[in-house]
Amino acid sequence: MTVKSKNPETIVLHAGPRSDHATGAVAVPIFQTTSYEFRSTEHAANLFALKDFGNIYSRIMNPTNDALEQKIAALEGGVAALAVGSGQAASALSIQNLCRPGDNVVSSTDLYGGTWNLFANTLPSMGITVRFADPADPEAFRRATDERTRAYYAETLPNPKLTVFPIGEVAAIGRELGVPLIMDNTAAPMICRPFDHGAAIVVHSTTKYIGGHGTSIGGIIVDGGNFDWAAHPQRFPTLNEPDPSYHGAVWTEAVKPLGPIAYIIRARVVLLRDIGSAMSPFNAFQFIQGLETLPLRMREHCRNASEVALYLQRHPAVARVIYAGMHDDAEQRRRTSTYLRGGHGGLVGFELGQGREAGARFIDALKLFYHVANIGDVRSLAIHPATTTHSQLSPADQLASGVTPGYVRLSVGIEHIDDILADLDQALAAATQPMAKAA
Ligand code: PLP
Repeated sequence: MTVKSKNPETIVLHAGPRSDHATGAVAVPIFQTTSYEFRSTEHAANLFALKDFGNIYSRIMNPTNDALEQKIAALEGGVAALAVGSGQAASALSIQNLCRPGDNVVSSTDLYGGTWNLFANTLPSMGITVRFADPADPEAFRRATDERTRAYYAETLPNPKLTVFPIGEVAAIGRELGVPLIMDNTAAPMICRPFDHGAAIVVHSTTKYIGGHGTSIGGIIVDGGNFDWAAHPQRFPTLNEPDPSYHGAVWTEAVKPLGPIAYIIRARVVLLRDIGSAMSPFNAFQFIQGLETLPLRMREHCRNASEVALYLQRHPAVARVIYAGMHDDAEQRRRTSTYLRGGHGGLVGFELGQGREAGARFIDALKLFYHVANIGDVRSLAIHPATTTHSQLSPADQLASGVTPGYVRLSVGIEHIDDILADLDQALAAATQPMAKAA
């Protein structure tokens, strides 16, 4: 970055390449190419042996993706990043990069439904066990840890519970025991920087706020460069033992001259090479466009969401509002003020006093809000998690992840606040009318 800044508004515009080397193009070009011409057989051999770093094949690296990776690494305060095909791929690879069959991860119970399924069913089918810990008690992470625990995992602002995760407390336990904390920061880009609180790895679904316009699926893994993998050779064999797929390279040794990037380099040259969940350069371009206005949009999302939360709190048909800026519990309020800066996010949940049926009628009556399985779009969105995003979880697991039968989740967009509130108003009236008449 030629322009030095600590401010996200400047970082998203100026981190990464200033302009294209070959053409001077200021907007990052879409390098829609599968492969890159080698200068000679020696050059090719050096690239494959990782003696030289350069482009080989777009499944593993691409200059458009590289620009996105540099920008998001800088925004999060990390050292390097890896763009992948979806947020789910980012979560899965972030764990697979450290685990072998027989290993385990300790995860917060407060998770997005897709991640819950990955952890409760798919990773165990690959021999990786996930132990769930209630983040209300950070010490639960310590109690669940053993010598085969390879990572802790949590969401900053868990969708849909919206209770801020105790990042510093759990990261500190992990650092004591030699276990890195992986944070899914999808719902809180810019308003939280998990590395500042001791997290080791950050993942995002770039599909959400970073893209912002509901056009592209993508994900990213960011390496904080702040975890000493070599200090725990037994806990991290994937990074400390010779890798037979790379002529016996030991990643913590092999990349030492390049900086503390063993974790992210292995994710790229081993996992992306072999599993292949790459981000398309076209999507990377869309995410760069989104990222450039992320600070402006996040401010508007946060401002509108706080107005919506206040409006819902005053509405007689609403039994409960779930919003990071409006918790009754003192510890929750402390976590919100410690970990969220500049806003409380764009997500608001609520329960209608008349339960599940009224919730469904509310969703059906919305006119401005879209009924979709997404968050973080510029447009306002709504969903009923129990019958959609979290429907594959058992009722007990739904409750553990914060989904009650009548819960409605709003992802508040950046339309004019008057129009957002007017739509909520008419939908709440329509949802509660039949019951009122019956009474
Ligand atoms: N993490 C969180 C917090 C999410 O909300 C989502 C999707 O809703 C994901 C990860 C998965 O992201 P993607 O849909 O890009 O795979």
